[in-house]
Amino acid sequence: MKAAVVRAFGEPLVIEERPDPEPGPGQVRIRVEASGLCHTDIHAARGDWPVKPNPPFVPGHEGVGLVEALGDGVTHLALGQRVAAPWLGKTCGRCEYCLSGWETLCEQQINTGYGCDGGYAEKMLAWADFTQPVPQGISALEAAPLTCAGVTTYKALKVADVRPTQLVAISGVGGLGHLAVQYAKIAGAQVAAIDVTDEKLELAAELGADLVIDARKHDVGEVLQRHGGAHAAIALAVNEAAFSTAYAGLLRRGGKLVMVAMPAHGTIQVPIFGTVLNGTSVIGSIVGTRQDLAEVFQIHAAGRTRVIYETRTLASVNESMDDVLRGDIKARIVFDMAAGR
Ligand code: NAD
Ligand code: ZN
Ligand code: ZN
Repeated sequence: MKAAVVRAFGEPLVIEERPDPEPGPGQVRIRVEASGLCHTDIHAARGDWPVKPNPPFVPGHEGVGLVEALGDGVTHLALGQRVAAPWLGKTCGRCEYCLSGWETLCEQQINTGYGCDGGYAEKMLAWADFTQPVPQGISALEAAPLTCAGVTTYKALKVADVRPTQLVAISGVGGLGHLAVQYAKIAGAQVAAIDVTDEKLELAAELGADLVIDARKHDVGEVLQRHGGAHAAIALAVNEAAFSTAYAGLLRRGGKLVMVAMPAHGTIQVPIFGTVLNGTSVIGSIVGTRQDLAEVFQIHAAGRTRVIYETRTLASVNESMDDVLRGDIKARIVFDMAAGR
């Protein structure tokens, strides 16, 4: 089987031929049909973050495909069933976080495409309990972006506790942001979408954003303050300055900045006086639980979200990453594994 492999940070990925992996106890082998390209995979391939993967590794945590082999003890999945293999590859199941609905914070977690090989491959292994069955009627190509971009932004809006009377700013309308706009609308909020490319701004308007702000041309904070300021700003742009703008300029009193994007070496300054007086908060949000992903699939199966993507072959992985960095794509790239065979 073919896999796209990061052999060294910052080097182009290499397509390798590898033997089919054998599932261990509790695992399944998935014949991958579709695999989304999350910006996190680019950070992984470049070694951008303080905690790094160990090359060689296969990135990808939006892999969706059909179960083709069951490891010992796997009884709840059937051969041929379509499942998704998200970032949360496995957790301990016993710690305080796992037991209190915060498995995403488990210190023993293994992350797909980071701590173990991921979905940029024709075949992959996954721990059965952490795969998510894909409901009937959702194609593999649509399920792929929901598996990270969907669950992450759905969770970020839960963490922000968005209410129908509120104004939510979505900073960055890429793979994550185009779904964030839709979840914020579903929550009943007014949505202000911010980006720096014409296509993304047009897409945000098409997906129901009430206010669309071009950060190249406008003072985003000033526009938001004219509308009373945002109750929550969801930071999805891979740009440190956009975080500072969101925290310092966009929020109303009591507002929340939810940090989701992770620009390399990113930091922001949090002024103590303004934070105290305004009662603002900064919250980090990391992917979502298995239950969050089940809800994301349920919402999509009910026809309430649109996944915007373009398909590529796995062989195009390096150009595809460059195109994401230029912002020159429809919201998400999905590798169509059938197209490359
Ligand atoms: P993406 O490249 O598809 O989207 C980023 C968007 O931000 C693009 O539309 C781009 O035009 C826009 N942008 C760039 N500069 C901007 C600016 N100054 N102001 C406003 N918009 C700007 O990336 P993605 O796949 O959506 O991922 C976004 C980030 O989220 C990445 O850093 C990724 O690693 C991170 N991420 C975090 C989690 C988590 O659990 N916290 C999960 C998935 C991804
Ligand atoms: Zn991701
Ligand atoms: Zn745990």
